[in-house]
Amino acid sequence: MTIALVGLGVSTSQNVAIGPAYRLERGPMPSSPRLIEPNEVAAEINRLEQALSASQGALKAIRRQVSRCAPGSPLSLAEFIDSHLLILEDAALVEPARDLIRAQLFSAEWALRQHRDDLARIFDEMDDPYLRSRLDDIDQVIHHILGFLTPDERASKEPESEICGCVIVAHDISPADTLLLRHRGAVALVTEYGGPLSHTAILARSLNIPAVMGVRHATRYLRQGETLVVDGEAGTVIAGADYHILNHYRQRLVALSARRNRLRRLLHEPCQTRDGQPVELLANLELPDDAQLARANGASGVGLYRTEFLYMNRSGLPDEEEHLAAYRLAIRGLGGIPITIRTLDLGADKQVDGSLSANCPPACNPALGLRAIRLCLKDPELFRPQLRAILRASAEGPVRLMLPMLTNLGEVEFTLNLIAQARRDLAQQGLPFDPAMPIGGMIEIPAAALCADAFARRLDFLSIGTNDLIQYTLATDRIDDTVNYLYDPLHPAVLRLLRMVIAAGRRQRKPVAMCGEMAGDRRFTRLLLGLGLRQFSMQPGSLLEIKELILEADATRLANQVDDLYRRLDEEPAEDLLAALNRLP
Ligand code: PEP
Ligand code: MG
Repeated sequence: MTIALVGLGVSTSQNVAIGPAYRLERGPMPSSPRLIEPNEVAAEINRLEQALSASQGALKAIRRQVSRCAPGSPLSLAEFIDSHLLILEDAALVEPARDLIRAQLFSAEWALRQHRDDLARIFDEMDDPYLRSRLDDIDQVIHHILGFLTPDERASKEPESEICGCVIVAHDISPADTLLLRHRGAVALVTEYGGPLSHTAILARSLNIPAVMGVRHATRYLRQGETLVVDGEAGTVIAGADYHILNHYRQRLVALSARRNRLRRLLHEPCQTRDGQPVELLANLELPDDAQLARANGASGVGLYRTEFLYMNRSGLPDEEEHLAAYRLAIRGLGGIPITIRTLDLGADKQVDGSLSANCPPACNPALGLRAIRLCLKDPELFRPQLRAILRASAEGPVRLMLPMLTNLGEVEFTLNLIAQARRDLAQQGLPFDPAMPIGGMIEIPAAALCADAFARRLDFLSIGTNDLIQYTLATDRIDDTVNYLYDPLHPAVLRLLRMVIAAGRRQRKPVAMCGEMAGDRRFTRLLLGLGLRQFSMQPGSLLEIKELILEADATRLANQVDDLYRRLDEEPAEDLLAALNRLP
């Protein structure tokens, strides 16, 4: 018999999955009290604290592996895990549980359960559905701690070989378990719990794993091992599908994989336009481990290696050796292709914790405050270990150093002096570095774009950070939902600045790359080629999609068509002009 269960679909670019059901049994919250003896109180509190710190440790380990931003999600994976860490670190979660152990002689498990029920009553009274749904997070965090009090119930204990290729069916899945399951090869998720605002949905989107959530009684109706079809787009889970249904979905899977294979065939094609103009496709890396992904997708180098991960989720600052180890790892993973290491870009929306917060106090207007190069130049002691490590890394492979958020040439001079000093110190210490390591800067502020010639003269290369350039040009915070509608890459002011920077690079004979999200967005590829951009840096997963468009394009013809587009910018909506450009041969 075929049954179809309906829930809320979480659609990703991989919308469909077929596989055997794997029921993830997670222990329920304890349902009956266990009491302890008065002389066991200290040991029980200790047990709770151990579980708490194990749970924190596990989440932090996952957090370190996770990339910062999942475009299009209301919350990135990293922010999601951070929010669970915040709950874990909040005294309001554990203190009452400790009190219950002391006062009522409850076991740690039962104390957590009682406290969870108290919180549930408070959340139930909230009017706002979003806030009400945050109880899910508290439940997931409590389950995570319970997993360390009674370790057998954790997904990490599930054998890897059994999970690979399976559709996970569960009452609810914690963030840590979702990541683990993905790494172990699970192909889809079906949960009874959760909705469009749930964090598991956000996670699934970030991990590109189709999911259907809020499927009532899924664990009752879906049997271990039976074949399931999960359609993340329609929000359906089909069990016992007949030949016709299976065939329909298999065809959809074939079409998806054919597209991926078509793209993979482009991997070894030289990256040039139809009229023979070479274009460099570069990857943006968030973590050293992403190096493999960059190579597997044919990147000819790394155009942006964000180094913020080194400073996050820790109390102290990374030292020179720690920096060097992370850069070495990436350099080795890249097997000889060049890497552009961007110096620290913290502040504004990029959070810090621990001792760095003292250097980076809360600003009244963080996006316009002490961030990125400004923070580094204010505190050269913070900057020096990173500069020395990047220089030392340059002895081990082709390395370029890139400065974020430049406003004026004074910042460039100051930094070049610090680098010169670091070179002298390294030479005196007999530590090797590449004396010709290129030094470039990001154009992310309209002032810098308007003076791009001067920056290009003083630096070895430029890279346009469109994410920030757009927000600063349009005075629109890129993460503020209330003004997001103004965030427009096609605003004529943005388009004019892009053209100015690319033209400045050409005049000064210095390479100009683009490493903001625009570079990996297919809508803009032809426009950017027509403007003369020849270095595109993006998330590794988008490289082949962009390459396909580059191979089909005629850059000479596009240059004329884009000139025409700019002439009409004030008369016609840029969206229409771009749509017309993308339709032209
Ligand atoms: C940018 O601003 O375009 C950029 C690449 O930097 P980030 O997104 O890290 O601020
Ligand atoms: Mg930026």
